[in-house]
Amino acid sequence: MGRKKLIQKIPKAVIIKCPHCSEKTKIKISQEGVFSLDCKKCKQKISTPITQCCIICAFSDKKCPRSLMIEARAKGLEIK
Ligand SMILES: [Zn+2]
Ligand SMILES: [Zn+2]
Repeated sequence: MGRKKLIQKIPKAVIIKCPHCSEKTKIKISQEGVFSLDCKKCKQKISTPITQCCIICAFSDKKCPRSLMIEARAKGLEIK
């Protein structure tokens, strides 16, 4: 029996939830990460908290490519 390879998928887009007004905005993910965004509803800036690596990790239900790759490498997963 062959060993099944586990695959870590990198999402192409995520929904960011504004921490000020809870408006949801869909953004495209870039490899470098996304660090700030202007909310189109409340016009406030969504910026990365010091304790988080980016706004994707902080304000969406997904993780950014950088975090996913670190995680995948640690678990020995294949990255797609
Ligand atoms: Zn907002
Ligand atoms: Zn991140």
